[in-house]
Amino acid sequence: MNKTNDLTIKVPEEVRSIMERLTEAGYEAYCVGGCVRDSLLGRAPEDWDITTSALPEQVKSLFSNTVDTGIQHGTVMIVRKGTGYEVTTYRIDGEYKDGRHPEQVTFTRSLEEDLKRRDFTINAFAYNKETGLVDLFGGLDDLEAKVIKAVGDPNKRFEEDALRIMRAIRFSAQLGFSVEEMTYDAISSHSDRLAQVSMERIRVEFEKTLVSKNSGKVKEFFRLGMGSYILPGYAKRCEDFDEEIAASYSGLGAEERRYLLLADLLRHLSAQEAKDALRKMKYDNQTVTTVSKILQYQDTCCMADKVSIKRALNEQGKEIFFLALQMKEAVAKESFSTVREMAKEILDKQEPYTIGQLAVTGNDLKKEGISEGTRIGETLQRLLDQVIVEPDKNTKEDLISMIREQQEA
Ligand code: ATP
Ligand code: MG
Repeated sequence: MNKTNDLTIKVPEEVRSIMERLTEAGYEAYCVGGCVRDSLLGRAPEDWDITTSALPEQVKSLFSNTVDTGIQHGTVMIVRKGTGYEVTTYRIDGEYKDGRHPEQVTFTRSLEEDLKRRDFTINAFAYNKETGLVDLFGGLDDLEAKVIKAVGDPNKRFEEDALRIMRAIRFSAQLGFSVEEMTYDAISSHSDRLAQVSMERIRVEFEKTLVSKNSGKVKEFFRLGMGSYILPGYAKRCEDFDEEIAASYSGLGAEERRYLLLADLLRHLSAQEAKDALRKMKYDNQTVTTVSKILQYQDTCCMADKVSIKRALNEQGKEIFFLALQMKEAVAKESFSTVREMAKEILDKQEPYTIGQLAVTGNDLKKEGISEGTRIGETLQRLLDQVIVEPDKNTKEDLISMIREQQEA
């Protein structure tokens, strides 16, 4: 392999040592794919993948701490200091009969063959210190020009694996790149092929696009005819994704932002419909519940008085309360800072708004002769209603005397 240039990439110590071990044993080893791309862009790679001429069993025999994460596809994970590094044997992907998985993979001794199976030119780099950067498909030029371009004939590549049409948009969103013209044209003529791709894979690419710094790129999926495969039954009502709302979430933590972006996407749906849409996308229960609750509560106007806020906190829970408030502010393009400050004060001062915060428990009530479960519940609720209005009354003494008064009445 010719050394294509003098570019050097800063490879983490563990990765370097894994590659060295393979090389010393007489095999080839390179960092490959996303980690090289991101290093060239000056971005911190998410993970470091290694490609090698060694067969999986040969890799396993060289390292002590390995996990068979995808051995049938040639991948062995090497665990070092709690981090997993995937080492994959050079391979040629067989025919993708169903557009999902290659029927079989063939291991090869040729790095070039391995790089050819990769989706885009900027994802098909390999690097090691001895050889330098291996760039067989003009990836560097495309990085420079900021374009996503298929390796080889885009039509063929999308026929092999239709998920790549979503990956093209995903990378363009994450990197702020455009999609090269022929690749773009091939995307629209292959959108129906997404029917063959599993919802789990579709969701991953969709979400990576949504949470990228260019969330608005999700509109490309709709424009290019992929909506019905991503949001079956609801795509039409989600097409006008609001980028301005999305941008207003840019300063938030990743988790909050993700929930709010999903809520933004589904904002024309009822909470029930949103639940259904997210379930169809095979989202986990936590996401389904959180996003549908944000939609359910974002319209319930929260007045700037502490009693209303405490009732809302009690009904919604504090996480949902703040998320729904955030969404309400973004949609209304108005700040409800008084409500937010009051809510924070309630939490800071630990002013009670849940039964669990009452100064008495069910057991105390039993001692007062209230033994029936439903009555205990009702009584605690009544005490809470009282304490929400008068937080100072949340002492055991006051609450017990309140119970006694009520019993006498
Ligand atoms: P990320 O930062 O999201 O991890 P990545 O480029 O590492 O980006 P991965 O999905 O982790 O993307 O895949 C690793 C590499 O494997 C890619 O860079 C690409 O070379 C190759 N690859 C992954 N999925 C496909 C696919 N569907 N078709 C062809 N090549 C693929
Ligand atoms: Mg990766």
